[in-house]
Amino acid sequence: MSAAPLIDPFARPISYLRVSVTDRCDFRCVYCMSEAMTFLPKKELLTLEELDRMCSTFVRMGVRKLRITGGEPLVRRNILTFFRSMSRHLDSGALEELTLTTNGSQLARFATDLAAAGVRRVNVSLDTLDEAKFARVTRWGRLPQVMKGIDAAQEAGLRVKINAVALKGFNEDELFDLQAWTASRDMDLTFIEVMPMGDMGPEADRIGQYWALSDLRARLAERFTLTDLPERTGGPARYVRIEETGQKIGFITPLTHNFCESCNRVRLTCTGELYMCLGQEDMADLRAPLRASETDGPLEDAIRAAIARKPKGHDFDYSRAEVAGQMSRHMSHTGG
Ligand code: SAM
Ligand code: SF4
Repeated sequence: MSAAPLIDPFARPISYLRVSVTDRCDFRCVYCMSEAMTFLPKKELLTLEELDRMCSTFVRMGVRKLRITGGEPLVRRNILTFFRSMSRHLDSGALEELTLTTNGSQLARFATDLAAAGVRRVNVSLDTLDEAKFARVTRWGRLPQVMKGIDAAQEAGLRVKINAVALKGFNEDELFDLQAWTASRDMDLTFIEVMPMGDMGPEADRIGQYWALSDLRARLAERFTLTDLPERTGGPARYVRIEETGQKIGFITPLTHNFCESCNRVRLTCTGELYMCLGQEDMADLRAPLRASETDGPLEDAIRAAIARKPKGHDFDYSRAEVAGQMSRHMSHTGG
């Protein structure tokens, strides 16, 4: 049974839900978490059954694409149960795509089962191909483990896209290495402009330097022929094709707002808060209506009321000081 589709006040259909299934992680990337992160008490988190009810309600209301994220989604206990359960919406045709963003550390364990659950693509976050630099930027991560995960994902038939945060003075010198490595493995590559996220410690200050993607793109263009692709995902990503390799390169600039008019997405945190816009503080608590009733009516009403408040665009200021002030929540909370 399907409900009336979700359309926001600016006539944008909401077809894409990003779901953070945990705030925990086995890495402590310098731009994302402080080393001494405090995590939410477990009882605050939606259970896997509640996550299922939430996501299934959104699917019934027209969401066609689900991206599972975190924190690190694959460290959530029994997360495969959730993926397996979501695959019923793929089977029914209600859901077009079930996908995840991961740091890759657990992929060697999970790749085959994820593929069996209907996952076709994964985004793996990887900022450097240098083992020592990888250990510095992730604080707790080990590159060989992630490489094994990527191997396993490709062996399982998953299409892998690499997401790299562009960090001035850190991976600037690896631009062409990252490009050549991903091309050699038939992977697409997307660069993300770093968002200032508050106090992350001295290591973050050393590594987390802003590198404008316009500059990165210009450097690529010195060596390759880049063709802009018309592809729009409804998000802050823009794509080019490198004519010499056929590879697709993406640029995610979360602080620009030239994509807001086509925004098709909302974000659910692991505690059931729905953020209607990445750049705004406004959110709706969906956990209370979910827990208040065994039927999904009150939840559907709360979702509709939230979507009716989805703002036209975000308020990011181009001045970085302003942005840091406005974005008090962590990416690991809203799921990036
Ligand atoms: N743990 C998973 C991972 O790392 O892919 C999923 C969650 S992580 C928060 C999602 C994405 O957000 C990652 O690609 C990460 O690099 C990115 N990210 C985290 N903090 C960021 C920041 N301050 N600026 C830009 N991107 C950030
Ligand atoms: Fe963990 Fe991903 Fe944040 Fe790194 S970016 S600390 S892997 S949640």
